Amino acid sequence: MEADLVVKGGKLVTPKEVIEAGVAVKDGKIVKIAKEPGLPEAGEVVKADGKVIIPGVIDAHCHIHDPDYTYREDFESGSKAAAAGGVTVLIDMPLVLTVLSDMIKRKIEEGERTSVVDFSFHAGMMKPEYLGEIPAIASLGVKSFKLFTTQPFKVDWEGVRSIVGEVSKVNGVTVVHAEDDEVISEWVRRVKEEEGRKDVLAHFDSRPAEAEGEAIRKLIEISEEMGGHIHIAHMTTTVGTVLVRDAKRRGISVTAETCPQYLVFTRRDIERLGPYLKMTPPLRTRDDVISLWKGLADGTIDMVVTDHAPGTREEKEVGWKDIWKAWGGIPGVETLLPIMLSEGVNKGRITPMKLVEVMCQRPAEVFGLYPRKGTLKEGSDGDLVIVDMKKEVTIRAGILHYKVGWTPYEGMKVVGYPEETIIRGKVVAEDGEILAKPGYGRFVAMTR
Ligand SMILES: [Zn+2]
Repeated sequence: MEADLVVKGGKLVTPKEVIEAGVAVKDGKIVKIAKEPGLPEAGEVVKADGKVIIPGVIDAHCHIHDPDYTYREDFESGSKAAAAGGVTVLIDMPLVLTVLSDMIKRKIEEGERTSVVDFSFHAGMMKPEYLGEIPAIASLGVKSFKLFTTQPFKVDWEGVRSIVGEVSKVNGVTVVHAEDDEVISEWVRRVKEEEGRKDVLAHFDSRPAEAEGEAIRKLIEISEEMGGHIHIAHMTTTVGTVLVRDAKRRGISVTAETCPQYLVFTRRDIERLGPYLKMTPPLRTRDDVISLWKGLADGTIDMVVTDHAPGTREEKEVGWKDIWKAWGGIPGVETLLPIMLSEGVNKGRITPMKLVEVMCQRPAEVFGLYPRKGTLKEGSDGDLVIVDMKKEVTIRAGILHYKVGWTPYEGMKVVGYPEETIIRGKVVAEDGEILAKPGYGRFVAMTR
């Protein structure tokens, strides 16, 4: 047998071990994982000597293509950034426009026309009035449904129950933006109306950790009561981590994600970067950062995602005068893996095996893409990233592919960087250069 592509000479990382082995891919699928000389001949040979081979990274929470906001990012620009950063699957989440069956069909077409990397979708924002849509959405291969417990897409707790119930009938997962609306409304009223604050810290001060804790507490109760799988989006706090850890111990079907920004920045960075670090939920304290790393290391937090939601410089700059007017979101898809390699693995906070678990395997498992994606196994898609663990890079917007042209990590030195990204046996990016054409990316149906 001759393979199409063989990657050899590197160290292959799985969630369990680091082994010396190479990977052979034929017709898009992994056909052999073996040490030389057990690998077949191939049309293309990639030498990974001294490098590390990991499965393609899955960004399970990113806002890439909202038809009304393509001036910020679209499938082409967002997927190029993904490819250069070692992300081989984007799970696009609704940003502002509601994403139900018709929109999903249109987005699949658009993605297959313009995306460089593979992709899947979350539906939403879910409201009780869309309950009837759930089976049709699931039959399209979208089994993840996003809802908010607070503004601007707030669903009340009865509504949350009804959605979780319907979603579990299709064996789907309900992804929740978990901040308690009662707590948030009270604090926003206090900071915004009573104190009349507009300074850069006002938004952060209006969204306390307690709001996240309260929402997660209620969501765990709902999951316990109804048995439906609830996934906590962008968890940021110690209190959330403690609650999820305890719920998992009790066998409740809850999973959680966090993002690099919550693992790197704290409230103090806002004094420097102001509205550029406005996001919801907001950054937290040093203590929360420590809890999140601990939660990742011990399996409480299942995955790291980006919540990539860039705004333009103009949409950020207005926040210096009035923080409430600034867009709340940051770009992140291209720096996801570099930040986790540098801050996580190279600083000894997580092992390389854990990195593969939280960036590849768990996102695939939770969102029904496993074992096609998220793992290096015979029969899986040939999606892999060759990483140079020693490579030093100073992050600059100029080396990244975002439409908005800025990054909150500007000037940060990282150690460890993806060199080559391979999707279904094709090298799609090499040292930041995009080698695949828009339209190479394929929709991947969720099969959970
Ligand atoms: Zn988001």
